[in-house]
Amino acid sequence: APLRRASFRLSVTQAGQLPPDDGAEVAIAGRSNVGKSSTINMLTERRALARVSRTPGRTQAINVFDLDPGQRLIDLPGYGYAKVPEALRRSWGPLLEQYLRRRSSLQALILVMDIRHPYSPHDADLISFAAGCGRPVHILLNKADKLSRGAALQEMARLRRIPELQGVAMQLFSAQTGQGLDELHQHIAGWLGA
Ligand code: GDP
Repeated sequence: APLRRASFRLSVTQAGQLPPDDGAEVAIAGRSNVGKSSTINMLTERRALARVSRTPGRTQAINVFDLDPGQRLIDLPGYGYAKVPEALRRSWGPLLEQYLRRRSSLQALILVMDIRHPYSPHDADLISFAAGCGRPVHILLNKADKLSRGAALQEMARLRRIPELQGVAMQLFSAQTGQGLDELHQHIAGWLGA
């Protein structure tokens, strides 16, 4: 699994600071507290990586992790942080938009949601923007362990009926138990051409 060889490369706050736009990369996004760091940890089996993502000043940056040569995992700024000053919030919107619009090596956007309160207005904005850029979106309904299997499946079925989510892939996930991890690894291997 190439993700196990992940290593932190750099944090960028401007698109011009990103590594060369070659090879293949997969980006991961999500509102704060949905479990994005936990998901990165579980994917990479490297506890230190998420600590990097949480370093103050880096939560609002794009964090780049190198996988195998020519393959990257991109940790996008968390959104919905109540504490973030408005000026900072205004500055990362354009960075995110520019990244999603222009990055040729970007293969797919993984969007982490908390299955107990998924599909926030921020999520909806991001999905419609990504769709407009022609980016495949893959939703992780994280913390599925907090619901019974039946309730989790029911919630996923409800989301699948939302018109704006037609054509958006989604799966149950738990960054705590590893539920859905094999399925996610398979998708990532496909996107990265591994
Ligand atoms: P982030 O802000 O999106 O990076 O979220 P974190 O990864 O820091 O997770 C936020 C909180 O949710 C932490 O207390 C995690 O332990 C918890 N958490 C994350 N994923 C899961 C999950 O799949 N199941 C459960 N039960 N808790 C989770």
